[in-house]
Amino acid sequence: MDMKKIIDKIKNDLKLSADELRLLLETEDEVVLEQIFAEAYRIKLKYIGNKVYFRGIIEFSNICAKDCLYCGIRKGNKNIDRFKMTEDDIVKDAVWTYENDYGSLVIQGGEIESPEHASFIERVVKRIKTETDGKLGITLSLGEQTPEVYQRWFTAGAHRYLLRIESSNEELYKKLHPADHNFARRLDCLRELKKTGYQTGTGVMMGLPGQTSEDMVNDILFFEREDMDMLGMGPYIVHNETPLAKEVKDFDKEKQFMLGLKMIAACRIYLKDVNIAAATALQALNPQGRELGVQAGANIVMPNITDTKYRANYQLYDGKPCLDENSSMCKGCLQRRIEKVNETIGFGEWGDSPHFLKKKK
Ligand code: SAH
Ligand code: SF4
Repeated sequence: MDMKKIIDKIKNDLKLSADELRLLLETEDEVVLEQIFAEAYRIKLKYIGNKVYFRGIIEFSNICAKDCLYCGIRKGNKNIDRFKMTEDDIVKDAVWTYENDYGSLVIQGGEIESPEHASFIERVVKRIKTETDGKLGITLSLGEQTPEVYQRWFTAGAHRYLLRIESSNEELYKKLHPADHNFARRLDCLRELKKTGYQTGTGVMMGLPGQTSEDMVNDILFFEREDMDMLGMGPYIVHNETPLAKEVKDFDKEKQFMLGLKMIAACRIYLKDVNIAAATALQALNPQGRELGVQAGANIVMPNITDTKYRANYQLYDGKPCLDENSSMCKGCLQRRIEKVNETIGFGEWGDSPHFLKKKK
């Protein structure tokens, strides 16, 4: 099968087969890639418009009870200082986000399951809602929790939740996590989030050791099957203080980056109306990563608004960008970058997933 036939199918809005998706992810032909990205961008314009939404992200704590083999803030990494922002500091950053018209906020951190933690987040969400007149949208990304906790945080005012499945291939998932990390539970959590009423997002890492292009195709089919509203995916990036780093011989930045873009494009082409983030990991591999992500079909970017004094200790992977830029510098820089590619920024809007809104009708 040649790529021309695949491109023609995309142009005619015909659904690609799994095999065609795989070929799309595998191609390295630059001319073909340009066409694929252009088509993905056309589909973004059709389903989303020429808008990009900002989600200010606060990485509020690197204390984590888990030990994912790829992650720099895993419990087993003894070489970092652990921190947790105070309630007041988080609320202050959230108010900054609101006043700067970002429309919504993501609160992300290590995974902790405890009554204290559940109450802490609940209080923070309630305070942010009160102090922004209910106008700032809140997304949480705080890992696996019980249905009761998801419900409490939803009632408090969070309306979106991100929980990456990391890989939809259970065997690969097992290789990336210690034995007590449970794929079935993660999947249950994802389904529970949807049931609770959250706009639910998931995602995977691309270019993981042992991952095939077929795995990534299955990831896309998984997103469709689980009827996901949002996607946050990024290329895997080595963190030297992690066990998985030992399995990576020659980390090819450019290849990982392209794979990241291809996966965004493939998801936009196949799933059409979901929100797709151009993850910070893209920018870590290429200074223009986020704009190129948008031009490959993404419609969400997540400027880091965490106080700079905390950022150095929230490194999930090596080479994380913007460690020493303050939030207003991030805002100006990002705005210029996005507007340069002829997109407008949906300031002050929540930018909900069209896929989710359609289901509500
Ligand atoms: N603890 C929460 C949220 C923080 S981690 C959770 O795990 O759900 C957020 C995401 O960072 C993870 O889902 C993972 O996909 C990504 N991540 C972790 N280590 C990474 C690495 N080395 N390269 C790229 N992404 C990574
Ligand atoms: Fe913790 Fe999330 Fe990192 Fe896993 S990926 S170690 S849960 S912060």
